[in-house]
Amino acid sequence: MSLAEEHFKRFFSDPEQVSYTPGEAQDILSGRPVRDEAKELIYAKMLRLGSILVADSLKIDRDSCQLVIRSLPDDESSASAVGFADGSFLIRVSHALLDAITSVSDMMMMFEHGVDSAQNAFTRHGRERQMQQTAMDLSAAMRAWIIMQRVTGTAQGLAFNLARADTIAAGEIALEALQLVLAHEIAHIALKHTQVAAESMISAGHIRQSESRELQADNLAVRMVTGQRPNLAADAGPMWGVFLALLAMELTESAIYIRRNSTHPLAWARWAVVEQMLGGGQSRAKPYQLAILASAVAALKLDEVFPASGWATVQRAQIIAARSMDLALLDQLLAAPIDQLVERAYATSSTRGREILTLMRQGSIAAALSALGAKERLVQAIADDRWAVKFFTIKNLIDSACTTDALNADASLYSVVGTRMVARVLTEENGGMRRHDG
Ligand SMILES: [Zn+2]
Repeated sequence: MSLAEEHFKRFFSDPEQVSYTPGEAQDILSGRPVRDEAKELIYAKMLRLGSILVADSLKIDRDSCQLVIRSLPDDESSASAVGFADGSFLIRVSHALLDAITSVSDMMMMFEHGVDSAQNAFTRHGRERQMQQTAMDLSAAMRAWIIMQRVTGTAQGLAFNLARADTIAAGEIALEALQLVLAHEIAHIALKHTQVAAESMISAGHIRQSESRELQADNLAVRMVTGQRPNLAADAGPMWGVFLALLAMELTESAIYIRRNSTHPLAWARWAVVEQMLGGGQSRAKPYQLAILASAVAALKLDEVFPASGWATVQRAQIIAARSMDLALLDQLLAAPIDQLVERAYATSSTRGREILTLMRQGSIAAALSALGAKERLVQAIADDRWAVKFFTIKNLIDSACTTDALNADASLYSVVGTRMVARVLTEENGGMRRHDG
C-alpha cells in the first residue's frame, strides 16, 4: 500500500457500494435531489473515469496505487493535492466542485439552445435581443446555484429540464472539465509545488500556492489534457472542458467560501492566459465564451441584488425543483446593504438572538460562535485564517440555535444576516477575528 492510500484510509472512508438506478444517475447529472450514498458513489465513478484518462495521459498504470483520487462531501477546498515521501500522491475533489462542474455543463446545454434560437431569429435586432436574454438566463441560473449553495449547502434542487441526449452531452463536457481539474492538481505535484507534507499539514488539507504557481499549473495541465496540440481551436471539446473547469472552480470558490483558502487567480484571467498560450483566441466560440464570462461576472456580483426580471426564466423553465424557495427574496437577503437588514433582524430576534447579533456587531465573533453552541474546536478552526470557512457552516450553526422570536420569526432573515456579519469580520484584513478577540 502506498503512503497516499494509507493516509486516505486513516482519515477518510471509501464510498459505500450502494446500488442505484440509471434514473438516479440521470437525476444526479441533471441536478435533481437523490440519496447521498448514491451521489457519493456516482461522483466516485466520475472521478474514476477522470483518473483513468489522466493516468493514460501520464502513461502510468491505471490501477497504480501511486495516484489516489477521491471525492469528499465536505472538504476545505474545491480540490487539493498532497505528495508523499514514497512518490505517491492524493488528490481530493469536493462534492461542491463536482456539483459545480455538472451544473455548469447542464447550463451550457441550456445556453446552447438559447444561442440556436437566437441564430434562427429573422432580424438582426431579434437575434441580439434573444442573445441578451440567453445570457441573462445563464446568469440567473448561476446566481440560483450560488443561492442554493449558500442557503442549503448543496446545489441539489437546481434541476435542469434537459432532454436525455443533452444530459449525455453535458456529462461528456463535465468529464472533460474534470480532467483539467485533476491535471491541474497533478501539475502542482509534477512542478514540485507541494512539499512532502508533514502529518499535521496533511490533515489540515491544503497548502497555499502563489498566483504564478497557479498559472504554471494551468499551463502544464492544459498541455496534458490537450495532448500538446498547438493551435487547438477554442471550440474543440478539450478546450471547452478547460473553459468550463476554470468557470466551475471560480463559481465554487467564490460562491461557497467566506475566506478562500487558495490563491487561484480569477477564472477570466486564467482563461486569457490559456488562450494566449495555445495561440488561439480567434475562433467561432469566442463571442459565446465572452458572453458566458460576462454572465458569470454578473452572477458573482454578490454586493448587488440580482435584477428581478432575471428570475422569470429560471421559474418558467422550472430550473429550481424546490418551487417554494423564493429566490428573489433570498437574493435580497444575501446581497442587499446589510445595515437595514440587521435592524430588521433585531426586531424579530429572541433576547438571546439579539445578544448574539450585538456580539457580531462588535466583531466578537468567537464569543458569538460560542453563544451559538459551536464547539471550541470549530471556533478555533474558524479563527485560523489559514482555513477556508464555508458560508453554509456558519449559517447552519445559526439555524440550529434558537435566535428568533417564535411568534414573530423570520429565521432565514436572521441566519443569512448573521452569517453575513460573521463573514464581514472574517474577511477583514489581518485576521479580523483575532484582532477583536485577542
Ligand atoms: Zn492550484
